[in-house]
Amino acid sequence: MDFAIVDTETRDQKQFRQEVRDWLEKNVPEDRKQPVDSRDLDSDDYQWVLAFRRALGKKGWLYPTFPKEYGGGGLTGDHESIIEEEITRSNALRIGVTPQMVFPGIQVWGTEEQRQRFLKPLVTGEKACWYKMTEPQSGADLAGIQTHAVRDGDDWLITGQNVFISSGTGDDRPDWLYGLAITDPNAPRHRNMGMFMIPFPSPGLEIRSMNLLTNGDESHFIFLDNVRVPGDHLIGGDHQGWQVGSTSREVEHGGAGRAAPRDPVMENLVEYAKTTKVNGVTLGKNPVVQQATMDAYTDAHVQALMLKRTYWLYHNRMEVQHEGHMANVHGRDSSLRQTLRAREVMKMYSLLGTKEPGAPHGGAEEVDQRQKAGQNHAGGSTNIIRVILARRIGISRTEERAPVTPATAGQITG
Ligand SMILES: Cc1cc2nc3c(=O)[nH]c(=O)nc-3n(C[C@H](O)[C@H](O)[C@H](O)COP(=O)(O)OP(=O)(O)OC[C@H]3O[C@@H](n4cnc5c(N)ncnc54)[C@H](O)[C@@H]3O)c2cc1C
Repeated sequence: MDFAIVDTETRDQKQFRQEVRDWLEKNVPEDRKQPVDSRDLDSDDYQWVLAFRRALGKKGWLYPTFPKEYGGGGLTGDHESIIEEEITRSNALRIGVTPQMVFPGIQVWGTEEQRQRFLKPLVTGEKACWYKMTEPQSGADLAGIQTHAVRDGDDWLITGQNVFISSGTGDDRPDWLYGLAITDPNAPRHRNMGMFMIPFPSPGLEIRSMNLLTNGDESHFIFLDNVRVPGDHLIGGDHQGWQVGSTSREVEHGGAGRAAPRDPVMENLVEYAKTTKVNGVTLGKNPVVQQATMDAYTDAHVQALMLKRTYWLYHNRMEVQHEGHMANVHGRDSSLRQTLRAREVMKMYSLLGTKEPGAPHGGAEEVDQRQKAGQNHAGGSTNIIRVILARRIGISRTEERAPVTPATAGQITG
């Protein structure tokens, strides 16, 4: 792909865009458009999303840049950008099914047999897998997990507890949980754990909704009581879980960038400033509103460029060191600033929810203020990302390089 800021779409790319757009118009009915508040989604919507993903998977459009032998499209980053933009444009329902950070660990550290068995059905959308890391006592300090796995013949028996494990809509369940467990309590930290694909359902494994203000019943408690997991469900060696997880976390923290980022809050604010009149005067002419809206506009564009740059580096198989984490910090901080600007520009109207008549943009700003508070913490919290960033640019007590990713391991198509 080319890291272009201006429109340089070729004739083939324009044709491909039209093909994707036509297909989406046929396959996304009006009653399957994303509601403003994801808390309004239910299991019926989830079933539709699963079928939609399978249909995308058949065309190679679900994970376009994954190699074909693992169920992907074998396409380029440009194709992926077009697909992502067109899916966003179609406003098709979005529900978490398999978080993207499940894939890298299996891609890089799994055996060929495991890639075929686990990765391929996830990439085609046939199966679902959740990312099971955080425990009640270990979130930011992930190496402090207490979940443990004990050998029993060829199998492992896993016992422990997790919180905040997110995907689905309440009663929906995955086929596997991808998660860490201590395999050797006597080994040093970071060399004492393994990464497992835990089948669901399994005796002793229970999943319960958390029902959070931020993302409703999308987050879950998980309880494991001597859950039997076959030996060939261990990804990497039985002391290599930290390395497997680091490969996943690198992508979770932004190390793969984003193909087609956009900021609906900024778009809404610009539209609101342009179209709202107060005492017959367009709101955007008010200097205070103008300043806030332009700050939102600038932040959104800086963020999009940073994400695209990382995406470009990743898809050109260059080493991404600090770029992903830097975009992550900027993205989280600026997303909170955007909610503040929504309050400055829209005043109390920004607090009207989806059920309130007269709420601008169907209540999107109220939902956004709630969700951003949670998103700011998900995936390791901003402080931790800053700690890693400092290590990457050499101003920390310790220094580190980025772990191997699917891009540097040659597991993407470009
Ligand atoms: C909406 C949402 C979805 C989530 N989805 C998932 C999921 O699917 N799977 C999953 O495994 N987890 C998930 N999480 C959990 C998330 O990864 C954790 O919340 C996060 O890692 C922080 O852990 P904690 O909540 O235990 O905070 P704590 O670890 O208790 O940290 C509290 C505060 O202290 C700071 N802190 C802690 N240690 C340090 C340090 N050494 N240096 C500087 N600051 C520090 C943290 O930055 C944070 O601000 C989700 C969380 C949310 C909110």
